[in-house]
Amino acid sequence: MALLDGKKLAKSIRKDVREGAQDFAKRWGRPPTLDVVIVGEDPASQIYVRNKERACLKAGLISHTHRLSADLSQSDLIELVRNLNIDEAVDGVIVQLPLPEHIDPDVVIRAIGPIKDVDGFHPINLGHLFAGRPGLIPCTPLACMRLLDMAEVDLKGKNAVVVGRSMTVGKPMAMMLLERHATVTVCHSRTEKLAHVVAEADVVIAAVGQAELIKGEWIKRGAVVIDVGINRLEDGALVGDVEFDTASARASWITPVPGGVGPMTVACLISNTLEAAKKRVA
Ligand code: NAD
Repeated sequence: MALLDGKKLAKSIRKDVREGAQDFAKRWGRPPTLDVVIVGEDPASQIYVRNKERACLKAGLISHTHRLSADLSQSDLIELVRNLNIDEAVDGVIVQLPLPEHIDPDVVIRAIGPIKDVDGFHPINLGHLFAGRPGLIPCTPLACMRLLDMAEVDLKGKNAVVVGRSMTVGKPMAMMLLERHATVTVCHSRTEKLAHVVAEADVVIAAVGQAELIKGEWIKRGAVVIDVGINRLEDGALVGDVEFDTASARASWITPVPGGVGPMTVACLISNTLEAAKKRVA
């Protein structure tokens, strides 16, 4: 088994982004800029946002965080997003999810200008992805694909099983694998005989959010395993959706949790921000 080291790859992406950001700043008088909007006090979201700020800083990007109170109205949030859309000094806009219950995330995401939608969640960007056209790609599936590329996994004709069908991870991941000519199966909470489906996979992408749901004994020998899940156990330990010790005895490549997809997702966000900045001025 070989470990797919997300921290190491993220570091090399940050280095590339830093160089790209310096070139951009030389030409346009300022580095690429990411504006992050967070509403409310969700503790996990606060950590994610701080990680994003730190990643921007390390890569020489400017980041602004708009910290707003949980009782902000949907219309005030949309007004802020629209102002960021028309602000010439802003290249990327993300609204941290989840939002408080009184705010509809779909409406807010649709308000983000597609050229600044560096999370890649706007239906126009998802439409480009589903049509196989270039656009801003959601950061987590992009992170998974970059990890597969680091391991030089040839996806053509391979059985790829994606467990989880969310709009932010599972579905876009499935489309990216299809685009690379894999034969793709998408599993979800109603899938029957999950163990049998996973056992046929040359590539497993686990994006469920249930600690160690996928057992090591299900993994085909030599399969590549990308574990997107982040689950905190009662003792405080972080584990993925895959039983790591037993799966790593069978997999050819596997991502650890933490240190796999997580750091790569943030790296892909800053890389998307640089891309969005370059496209806007092109
Ligand atoms: P989600 O809750 O939106 O989707 C979960 C999916 O899992 C659903 O499609 C559901 O049908 C499926 N599912 C639930 N129970 C199942 C079961 N028993 N068998 C098969 N499928 C089942 O979650 P999400 O936003 O896609 O995130 C999934 C996980 O990935 C979470 O742990 C989340 O924290 C993590 N995540 C990590 C990163 C990262 O950067 N590493 C980014 C995004 C999400």
